[in-house]
Amino acid sequence: MRIGIPRGLLYYDYAPFWKAYFEGLGHEVVVSRPTSKKILDQGTFVCVDDACVPVKIFHGHVMDLMGRCDVIFIPRLVSVCRDEYTCPKIIGILEMIKNSIPGDMDILTIAINNHKDMDMERKSYINLAKKINEKKLDVYRIVDNAYAIQKHTDEETIRKWTSLDGNKKAIGLIGHPYITQDSYINMNIMRTLEGEGYTVILPENITEKEIWHECDKLPKKLFWSHGRRILGGGLAMAESRKVSGILFISSFGCGIDAFMGELLERMNHNQYKLPYTSIIVDEQTGQAGVNTRLEAFLDMIEWRKKDEIDISKHGEGIHISQGAVGGSGY
Ligand code: SF4
Repeated sequence: MRIGIPRGLLYYDYAPFWKAYFEGLGHEVVVSRPTSKKILDQGTFVCVDDACVPVKIFHGHVMDLMGRCDVIFIPRLVSVCRDEYTCPKIIGILEMIKNSIPGDMDILTIAINNHKDMDMERKSYINLAKKINEKKLDVYRIVDNAYAIQKHTDEETIRKWTSLDGNKKAIGLIGHPYITQDSYINMNIMRTLEGEGYTVILPENITEKEIWHECDKLPKKLFWSHGRRILGGGLAMAESRKVSGILFISSFGCGIDAFMGELLERMNHNQYKLPYTSIIVDEQTGQAGVNTRLEAFLDMIEWRKKDEIDISKHGEGIHISQGAVGGSGY
């Protein structure tokens, strides 16, 4: 069977596992093509107007797979961590796809809900494997192997952070992986920063231990797994002082990012005072606008290094601007 996997949303978190899992069961995996204008346009056309751009892009990726595979894999990931949830749009993406995209399509799905029990995920994958195990293979070994491959990939990703030399130029690029790693929707932001000599650090590069350490300082537990990684990852970078600035990239219409971005900006402003900027993308975002914001941000970092010290001549924090969000609390 040819199983199509849309290159969007949680693909960026679980691609190594899914590929090893389906291929281990003897199926062929077809991943949709990288995001392009055509994929964005066709997703935007069928999707509801007020969805965020990653959800619209996901629709486009599903359409890109139609006719190129036998079934399209769209998991329902409700909770990937105990006492936490994914975004409501990720939970409901299967229904959105079924109701928005015209034409016949066979969907292969699985429900993952670790809210109460972290073993649910493994059990769900084993149950699904038994259903599509046409070659009567050892599903337990295949699932364990897929987990091992995912673990290895995650450890490689983290090495970029743990081996980062504090004297190197580095920037924290904070956002969901389906925005930071999709070069079409983020206007190739990573390549631009690397072209300027910066090492780009993402929340995925930060260890879970450091993320939890930062989030445990908050007065209340965060509700969303991805929100926790974004905020905890950004704070861990700021705390370490291994990054020269923080660039927060989010999608227009994202409730989670509106909340996390505000918290991160306030906490950076009050505690770390690193150069900080945010960019919001949607389907209208243009290259020139993003480049202008990036240039201004990089200038801010360079001027900080060249001209300023961390202690104001007037005894005030020199990086507290009038427009910045301040106040007590965070
Ligand atoms: S977390 Fe935000 S960007 Fe991601 S799917 Fe949900 S609303 Fe969209």
